[in-house]
Amino acid sequence: MRPLRFCQACGSKVETPDKEGGARCGACGRTWYQNMAPTVGAAIIRDGKALATIRAFDPMKGKHDVPGGFLKPHEEPLEGLRREVMEELSIEVTSSMEQVLQMVPHPYGEDGQWVLSIGFKATWVSGEPQPADDVAAIEWVGIEDLDRLDFAWEHDRTLLRRALEDDQEPD
Ligand SMILES: [Zn+2]
Repeated sequence: MRPLRFCQACGSKVETPDKEGGARCGACGRTWYQNMAPTVGAAIIRDGKALATIRAFDPMKGKHDVPGGFLKPHEEPLEGLRREVMEELSIEVTSSMEQVLQMVPHPYGEDGQWVLSIGFKATWVSGEPQPADDVAAIEWVGIEDLDRLDFAWEHDRTLLRRALEDDQEPD
């Protein structure tokens, strides 16, 4: 992750970060911290299969991942999850906080910005998936398919496996 160099409020050069990581702006007095950005991802289950997406753009163009993305400021994670799935696939899904299957910190993109990837199990509700936005194509997969897919991030393979295993357990 690149060190913070300029104040996000006034644009002045900030001082070298202190040992807690806070970089103070001498001009306006604010102190800035670098944090992970939370992202949400959905393992969507329908008829015993999970939906994998194929990325339309870099980073990791052409590789498999799951629908999802960055939360907006103030956005509730489940709200963001449903919004991202609707934007990328035009389908409605349902999930809950009890269906969080993992939280994985990982670097994203060329600058190595760190994100906290929150993975949900979600259930298909309505609509037929129409890939849009940063999704090139979709594939419904079972546990037996997971090893042959070329995932952009290994934790998405784990997320789909956990969701499919969870789906097979009796209620
Ligand atoms: Zn400033």
